[in-house]
Amino acid sequence: MTQAAVRTDILEIARDQVLERGEGLTQEQTLAVLELADDRLEELLALAHDVRMKWCGPEVEVEGIISLKTGGCPEDCHFCSQSGLFASPVRAAWLDIPSLVEAAKQTAKSGATEFCIVAAVRGPDEKLLAQVAAGIEAIRNEVDIQIACSLGMLTQEQVDQLAAMGVHRYNHNLETSKSHFPNVVTTHTWEERWGTLRMVREAGMEVCCGGILGMGETLEQRAEFAANLAELEPDEVPLNFLNPRPGTPFGDLEVLPASDALRAIAAFRLALPRTILRFAGGREITLGDLGAKQGILGGINAVIVGNYLTTLGRPAEADLDLLGELSMPIKAFNDTL
Ligand code: SF4
Repeated sequence: MTQAAVRTDILEIARDQVLERGEGLTQEQTLAVLELADDRLEELLALAHDVRMKWCGPEVEVEGIISLKTGGCPEDCHFCSQSGLFASPVRAAWLDIPSLVEAAKQTAKSGATEFCIVAAVRGPDEKLLAQVAAGIEAIRNEVDIQIACSLGMLTQEQVDQLAAMGVHRYNHNLETSKSHFPNVVTTHTWEERWGTLRMVREAGMEVCCGGILGMGETLEQRAEFAANLAELEPDEVPLNFLNPRPGTPFGDLEVLPASDALRAIAAFRLALPRTILRFAGGREITLGDLGAKQGILGGINAVIVGNYLTTLGRPAEADLDLLGELSMPIKAFNDTL
C-alpha cells in the first residue's frame, strides 16, 4: 500500500485517531466504517477490541434487569411489544416488592454490579415512584448492588426525587438517530427524550442511553445515531438489535444480518472509545452464540444477564462462562463506588 493510500484508509485513520489519541470517529468517519466490506470485518473487530482494551480496560460490567411494570404503555414505539396500542401479546402486570428484592439478590449472586428497575410507561406517576422508592429501600437493606432505573420521560421534580433516592444510573434510550425517530415513535419527540437525559446528567446521575439497530434506518442514519450519542457523552450505551415482535408495526422487518450487527458494534466503539458499551436485547437472534463472542472481542465491555424484558435472553451462566473463557474479569462492586 502506498503512503497516500494508507492515509485515506479509514481503519488506519481510526488506529491513529481513536486507538492512539482516544478521539472518537466523526459521523462521516463512522459511516465509512459501516460501509467497509465483509473482508475487512475481522480487522475492524480487532481494532475495536484494541480500542476497548486501551481506553476501558479488560473488565466487563454485568447488569441485571427487572421489569417492575410490564406492558400497557400508552406510547407507540413501533418496535415495542409493551405498547398498549398494538395487538402484541404482553399484558399489563406489576411486580411486588419481595419479588423485586429476590431478583436483586439473584442478580448480585451472578456477579453483577448494576440492577436496573424498568417500567413500561411514558413517564412515572406518583404510584410508580412510590413503588420504586419502597423497592430501592427494601433492596438496600438486603443487597449490595448499585441501582439503576428506566422509567421513561421525567420532569425536573421527578429527576430530583430519583437522585435523592440514590439512583446511580438512569436509562433512557434515544432509540435511533434524530432524523429516523419520527418513523419509529409518533407519540413523543426525540427532543423530549433529550431533555430528560440532560436533566439526569445535571442532577449527577450517570446517563445510560442507547437504542435499537435494524429498524429500517439507513447506514447514514446509523452513523448519525452514533454521532448523536457521542454528543450526549453517556456513561453507558446499551445496543439492541431489533427482534421483530409479532403484532408490532415493525413485526415484519428483517433481522439484521450478523455481519452488519458486528460492524455496527465496532463502529459504535470507535465513535465512543470510553463509554460502557453493553450488549442488550435481540442479540441472540442476530448474532447467535458465536456472535456473542465476536461482539465481546469487537468492542463490547458490558453484558446483561438473565432474562430480558419481554423475550428470553441467554441464560446468565452462558454469558459468565464466556467471560471466563475469554479471561475477562467481571467488574467488582467495590470498583464502581
Ligand atoms: S419503548 Fe417504552 S415508551 Fe415506548 S412503547 Fe415501549 S414501554 Fe412504552
